[in-house]
Amino acid sequence: MKITGIDCHVLLAPNYDPRLTSSAQDSFIVQVHTDQGITGIGESDVNPWIAKACVEAPGTHTMGLCIKDMVIGADPLDIAGLWQRLYVGTAMNGRRGAVIHAIGAIEMALWDIKGKALGKPVCELLAGDGPVRDHIVPYASLQPSGRSFEEYRDSLVEWAVRARQLGFKAVKAEVTMNGPYAHSGLHEPYERHTEVVAAVRNALGPDLALMVDVQYMWPDAATALATVRDWKPYDLFFLETPIWVDRLDEYAKLHDQAPMKIALGEWQATRWEFEDIMDRGKVDVAQPDVGRVGGLLEAKAVCDMAFDRNRIIVPHCWKTGVSIAATAHLAFTAPHCAFIEFLPPELCVETLRKELATTEMQIVDGQIARPRKPGLGIELNMDALRRYTVA
Ligand SMILES: [Mg+2]
Repeated sequence: MKITGIDCHVLLAPNYDPRLTSSAQDSFIVQVHTDQGITGIGESDVNPWIAKACVEAPGTHTMGLCIKDMVIGADPLDIAGLWQRLYVGTAMNGRRGAVIHAIGAIEMALWDIKGKALGKPVCELLAGDGPVRDHIVPYASLQPSGRSFEEYRDSLVEWAVRARQLGFKAVKAEVTMNGPYAHSGLHEPYERHTEVVAAVRNALGPDLALMVDVQYMWPDAATALATVRDWKPYDLFFLETPIWVDRLDEYAKLHDQAPMKIALGEWQATRWEFEDIMDRGKVDVAQPDVGRVGGLLEAKAVCDMAFDRNRIIVPHCWKTGVSIAATAHLAFTAPHCAFIEFLPPELCVETLRKELATTEMQIVDGQIARPRKPGLGIELNMDALRRYTVA
């Protein structure tokens, strides 16, 4: 089998608001076509114009080759071999960041092709000789709205209660009224974040797992600890990205002193960045995002590294049904994956999440059952793809 073409789609929801923090308002979708009539679908969480340029920019020297040229004519079933050629062939422009994120979307599409060609779901192929789980557990990722403290707190409480009513066993609250992700004009002192965490735990009751994401709010461990030392009574499953991403020595201090597990990894590309955050940053929960880390094989390598280090995996995914499906297939191969991130269409405003892809994966009793369809098991809504394509 040979790859005959690749289409890069730049999608933007017509109701997008650049003042919001949600990266699910846009999408980078690739379709990889083959000479056997099989098309694979992939996605990555990266500025889609940048990613399209990463794929289509002409090559100018041996360490800065054109991704599209390398992909066309290649065997789509040789996923590891093609990934390695792309990684090395773009090394002077890539190795990390947007180039790796763009390669991740292509790699995801190759797995979709392989699954469709062999008549098997991606999780079975990705697991190799390893076991495939019967069920995985999604957590509802909740991004509150509101332009005042009270509106923000109340919207989060309301959505947490609705997530429980929808049957979710776990919820993650974005509690970010300060720091780089603060939006809607909010700028609240750190101690008011404690009030929000307390309100959400109180509304959820003791049985659901609760995670909190403060989105890089604190500059260092000492500042973070001044607030989160008080959060032990709220029994958090983890605290996500408490400190600016590059301050790994501060992460290590927080790991040693905080009363909950620390999570990081949504932005990291390649296994090498995860080696840094686990070994130097001592993070307890690694959060690879399948597209951003470079694809399913790279995400699987991160899972294996976490397993060897006795750490937990909870993948990041704030995107459409395409990435959710890829994330789920990964989780079915990882026994130490506690939850997958899941943006409930009922509890989000993102048009692309609601409309772009359909999937066989349904949540029943708070769990997702092992997929049976070949490939990623998703279908693109071609009408939505056309309507939201801007380049
Ligand atoms: Mg996050």
